[in-house]
Amino acid sequence: MEPARLSNVLQKDDGILLEGWTDSPLSLDKFGRIIDSNRLGSIRGSDHQADHEVNQSATLEGLPTPRIVIRIHIVYEALHEDLLRLAIVHVAKAMMRRERIVCCIHFGSSLPDIGFVRDFVRLIRKCQEKSRRCHFVLSGHFCDTHANEIIELFDYGVNLQFVVGWWPGCPPDMYVSLQSELLRQIAELGYRIPLRCYVHKENVRQIANAIPDGLRANYESGFSLPLICSSPFYVSKHSENPNPPNSEDYLELLVHSFENYRQHDDVMEPIVELTETVVHGGWHGVLDVPTRINLLVKPGAGFGVYLQLPEYAIPWLNARDITSCDIDDLFDDLLDFYKKTFAWDKNGFCNKCPWRHICGGLDYVEERLKSITTPYETVCNHRLFFLQFLTHLKYREHLANPTRP
Ligand code: SF4
Repeated sequence: MEPARLSNVLQKDDGILLEGWTDSPLSLDKFGRIIDSNRLGSIRGSDHQADHEVNQSATLEGLPTPRIVIRIHIVYEALHEDLLRLAIVHVAKAMMRRERIVCCIHFGSSLPDIGFVRDFVRLIRKCQEKSRRCHFVLSGHFCDTHANEIIELFDYGVNLQFVVGWWPGCPPDMYVSLQSELLRQIAELGYRIPLRCYVHKENVRQIANAIPDGLRANYESGFSLPLICSSPFYVSKHSENPNPPNSEDYLELLVHSFENYRQHDDVMEPIVELTETVVHGGWHGVLDVPTRINLLVKPGAGFGVYLQLPEYAIPWLNARDITSCDIDDLFDDLLDFYKKTFAWDKNGFCNKCPWRHICGGLDYVEERLKSITTPYETVCNHRLFFLQFLTHLKYREHLANPTRP
């Protein structure tokens, strides 16, 4: 869908005006808060100046500092490596002391041992101090799991995502596969299992038609539509793996879903994440890092960090280094690593973008950029489009009630 048509679709509902690429409609501070209605392009001048003014806004009094959420994405098999499992617990404990964390365990074609997952969750829960800051998610295609095992996980406070659309080994034309009987059994008992539908080039046009069936199967538990390249299993070089969709098709699907299923906006990735960055801030101005930090743990590979594309995660520390590191130093070490790795001046794609402190930017893979044009464009375009749109919504709210941050 053409951007002009998309803006018409959204304006129909909300009367917004979408602006161009470099001419952002509002002045935002590093936290993503609206500070005035002037355009960044017309008042900021050079990028250096923009940084200067944005930095100043971080000292505005009375405005809360946004919280950081650290997401530890764990490929299930990594939990079976004793040293790595220990390192994950060590990292989780260190991060929990400072910020909120989410441990998301992903499994592919092989089913997880639910008892083993439960024991791992118990291990981390033991490290929690008074404020419970760890949230658990188990994400995968539950084909033959028994309802009782799943209910046991719920009782441990683990949320489940039922992956459809793609998983390792899934043929590209099998665009949705639901084991609706299992979903129905669990949903009937009142548990909520959102669908996580990975979108790729081969399935993007069919998904909109499949959503109603999916929602019937999971009793309206909601769904999310992440790009296939946000799966920790996705490797673009594997010829049997489908490619990400192009921007227009993906945006059309997101806009359609946003218009028709707003009641599921608490789980509708990637829109929910972008909304959070606009409402709470996408950048921590004091620590100078994004408010969403992603870690990836793969078997045999230790820890990596990434912004949007796990395939391009950059190695941080290995399991041995982590377990021998003082727990009080790990958080600062991670932030230092993040700042050095994702410094804006290294990122030729995002460093001139006025939305970068809200968006968080894309992974730095400049030397390989030519080979990943589609994911770069698709990820950037949907982020930019929804950030502009959601900021307009927030701006209207700000006009209605200017005392609210
Ligand atoms: S990915 Fe985000 S920061 Fe980078 S150019 Fe696109 S909108 Fe701007």
